[in-house]
Amino acid sequence: MGRLLVLIALVVVAAWLIRRALRRAATHDAPESSAVRDELVRCAHCGLLLPRAEARESAGALYCSEEHARLGPARRRAAP
Ligand SMILES: [Zn+2]
Repeated sequence: MGRLLVLIALVVVAAWLIRRALRRAATHDAPESSAVRDELVRCAHCGLLLPRAEARESAGALYCSEEHARLGPARRRAAP
């Protein structure tokens, strides 16, 4: 019985290690930059969705381009 439990534990650990290795290979050893690259953010000026890595940051807001970073957040009309 004890042996069976050890065997099951080994199989679980092996499966976990294999899955982790596959995931690491898929992300080219850079899980952090991959997560940042995949994250989509919205331009504070025009609302365009773009990858976080391509966004410009200005005054705590994210923009799609230098132009929109310079123009700043879009001014919203008062709610009707
Ligand atoms: Zn924009």
